[in-house]
Amino acid sequence: MPLQAGPSGLTPSPAADQTNLNVVTPPCIGLRGVTVRYGQQTALHPLDLDVANGEVLVLLGPSGSGKTTLLRAIAGFCRLSGGQVELCGRDVTNAPPHARGLGMVVQSYALFPHMRVAENVAFGLEARSRPRTEIERAVRDGLAMVGMTDYARRYPRELSGGQQQRVAMARALAIRPQVLLLDEPLSALDAPLRADMLEEIRRLHAQLPDMAIVYVTHDQTEAISLGHRIVLMRDGRVAALGTPRNLHDTPPNRYAAEFFGQANLLPVALLSATSSPQQQADNAPANTASHAAVMLDGQVLWARKPVDLPPGKALLCIRPHDLHLGAQSPGTNRVDVQVESVHWMGAVQRLRARLGTWTLRVDLPGGQPAPGVGDIVALVFHPQRATVLADT
Ligand code: ADP
Ligand code: MG
Repeated sequence: MPLQAGPSGLTPSPAADQTNLNVVTPPCIGLRGVTVRYGQQTALHPLDLDVANGEVLVLLGPSGSGKTTLLRAIAGFCRLSGGQVELCGRDVTNAPPHARGLGMVVQSYALFPHMRVAENVAFGLEARSRPRTEIERAVRDGLAMVGMTDYARRYPRELSGGQQQRVAMARALAIRPQVLLLDEPLSALDAPLRADMLEEIRRLHAQLPDMAIVYVTHDQTEAISLGHRIVLMRDGRVAALGTPRNLHDTPPNRYAAEFFGQANLLPVALLSATSSPQQQADNAPANTASHAAVMLDGQVLWARKPVDLPPGKALLCIRPHDLHLGAQSPGTNRVDVQVESVHWMGAVQRLRARLGTWTLRVDLPGGQPAPGVGDIVALVFHPQRATVLADT
């Protein structure tokens, strides 16, 4: 069965929300069992996914995980081995790319070198034989939107990387696409420029709020700062899907926990809800229904349990900044550790601390007095800030 990876069924349109009419529109992009094989290799296993109007969906994953393949499948640049692609409810599986009305920007800008900036931006509309006045207006608006009005007569070689990427964006937007596909658009730029361009993409989206964006990246910072939802890809499959906060705070598996920030992942024994007498313990949370008790190094700790798991081997995921020095209060967990190293980094100080046979990473605020190497200290953490995961 294909992975169900999105809000299934129909999505209320923003217009319906505003007018209170009970109108539903189909999702902007609907993928139904979309599969791509290259010879013997399956680059994309059957995938189901809906993208709503105005949604920014990020495809995140390491190189080779199938992000570009999925984007190309939506755009019509690769032949499906199975499944269907729908745009606004219309089956476009067999439609060529230019008939799908999408805008696309790839990593390498791909501007036409022999055309001036304005001609590059006009290209999609010229190809559609739009009237001259409409083309001129679209070029003017497009360049203004990306802050490149003064560069209309330049050639791509006379622009910096960031400027070329802005022009590529204006070109993709000129046809006023319902969907904008961006494949690692910032990866050729250096770090400060990347941050500026991220801001710019957010601003562009605010100006075109009905346009859906599918944004491919291997960079978790870009994914978190841009995506309404993130699809985490692994070997041509969806490994996790959710809002950035969901995936960060309650990763559904080890892969997701490791991909988002640095997580402490500790092997624990998950205790069964009925046989666990620890409900009365000091550190038991008020609401034990969504929580579970685990045994770590001979000690019972409580953590969130977002998915149903059988008792037995599991992993406890705690982020370094969720571990604190200080006194234990009721409803919090405590572990005693020995400090192995302290590394002051300005805003944070990063400790490595030994707990049984494991080493924990701990991020404390930079302004706080640091414990000394070799000290035995108590670390406390809230059950709400720790998650039990399957050990897979
Ligand atoms: P990503 O964009 O996440 O880096 P891709 O979608 O480019 O990953 O690739 C997914 C897998 O499909 C990789 O193993 C890659 O080698 C393979 N692949 C991509 N394009 C082709 C192609 N045209 N022919 C054969 N294999 C391909
Ligand atoms: Mg790629």
